[in-house]
Amino acid sequence: MVTPTATRPATLPDRIQHYIGGAHVGSLDGDTFEVLDPVSNQPYLRAASGKKADVDAAVAAAKEAFTSGPWPTMLPRERSRILHRVADVVESRGQELAELECFDTGLPITQALGQARRAAENFRFFADLIVAQHDDAFQVPGRQANYVHRTPIGVAGLITPWNTPFMLESWKLAPAIATGNTVVLKPAEFTPLSASLWPGIFEEAGVPAGVVNIVHGYGEEGFAGDSLVKHPDVPLISFTGESRTGQLIFANAAPWLKGLSMELGGKSPAVVFADADLDAAIDATIFGVFSLNGERCTAGSRILVQREIYDEFVERYSAQADRVFVGLPEDPATEVGAIVHPEHYEKVMSYVEIGKQEARLTAGGARPEQFPEGNFVRPTVFADVSPDARIFQEEIFGPVVAITPFDTEEEALELANNTKYGLAAYIWTNDLKRAHNVAQNVEAGMVWLNSNNVRDLRTPFGGVKASGLGHEGGYRSIDFYTEQQAVHINL
Ligand code: NAD
Repeated sequence: MVTPTATRPATLPDRIQHYIGGAHVGSLDGDTFEVLDPVSNQPYLRAASGKKADVDAAVAAAKEAFTSGPWPTMLPRERSRILHRVADVVESRGQELAELECFDTGLPITQALGQARRAAENFRFFADLIVAQHDDAFQVPGRQANYVHRTPIGVAGLITPWNTPFMLESWKLAPAIATGNTVVLKPAEFTPLSASLWPGIFEEAGVPAGVVNIVHGYGEEGFAGDSLVKHPDVPLISFTGESRTGQLIFANAAPWLKGLSMELGGKSPAVVFADADLDAAIDATIFGVFSLNGERCTAGSRILVQREIYDEFVERYSAQADRVFVGLPEDPATEVGAIVHPEHYEKVMSYVEIGKQEARLTAGGARPEQFPEGNFVRPTVFADVSPDARIFQEEIFGPVVAITPFDTEEEALELANNTKYGLAAYIWTNDLKRAHNVAQNVEAGMVWLNSNNVRDLRTPFGGVKASGLGHEGGYRSIDFYTEQQAVHINL
């Protein structure tokens, strides 16, 4: 059998540097780290490994652009025009971007293309929002008028994970700079490739030097992520990643009382009642956990199914999971590609083994025969999963799903709420009253009723419990990235 290899994108660089004050620079100590492609697990480039000194330089450049540059004081319309140009450039480079993302992360190419479009949309959305932005004024007739004076805050630190990296970076970059801040972005160390396109995109769109700075590297103490969190001139940290990293950042930012926005882990339930449209529910719950290789924070990774339809659901679901096409990420037919990194692959496979001890395996459970190497795993389904099982409680972040039966609406809610997480929930029923009752009592920041995970960028995005702190999305992002001063006038 021939070991599969991924096609190297035509524009693959051989090294990645930091981007500070408009210049591409290596680390001050010369340090670099290896980046692997998840099909062969071979290193294909080295990226600069940022430390405190590199973060200091990036924050200084961002601070200079904030205090002396044109960006924070530009009219919203002018910034908006530039942000629309960013979106235009992202769109025009969508194919290249998706090829690089797919090569670096193992995401199926069709899904990487969708994420590139979404990244452009994030810029368009915030470009429009800052022009439409208004604030309330409050009057006490004849006595007092009060209004809100809104200003950018300063240098925002943006720390992002390796799943859909470019899109998640855009989700922070767009509102942060739309509101007039300058930023230092620290992309995830597993997947720095697509972030290396940002400098060219921003320059082509006309974003002034120093507004966006990028420092690559690890997160731990002494490295780039930790140094950004602890930098005294960075009053805001927007973080997306694991809940336990979020806890650490929360503690590390405490001495400076920084503004924090945290988008963290999930173990989201999909609740399927007996009266649901079963075909639609099966299609959506298959997509909900196997798209993006299951490396999706809002994945519906626990499916709770009412007893009357449980056996039929498990049988049909498992058969459909078996038909999900696992292939090379670059193949347009591929539905599940390669898991991002061998370390994460080991973690996912260890949960597959744990699951075999805890529950009944009904699909997958191993690597596909055609891929003896690389981070490939067959879509894996466990049925009869008890709520105290680790595969019910812990975030696996791969193409692995746990199915559990329930009898009553109360039991469904109890099971749905029985984890430390509370990011998303999906509810499948044709009973209108029950749909809203369950939606309003499930502990989740976002609920989809009879629907796939489709976002509306105007709505709040965020989780409850261990899934997050604060909300972004629409005006909530504007609130996070701006200072709001109340001005009171005696009349
Ligand atoms: P992670 O927490 O390991 O790393 C995320 C980022 O934080 C990386 O850039 C990393 O270098 C950095 N980092 C690590 N330690 C740090 C520290 N001490 N100080 C500062 N920065 C540090 O997460 P990951 O494995 O890259 O991403 C997967 C996780 O992200 C999953 O738990 C997933 O659910 C979550 N996620 C959540 C959302 C959401 O919107 N809620 C979206 C995507 C991913």
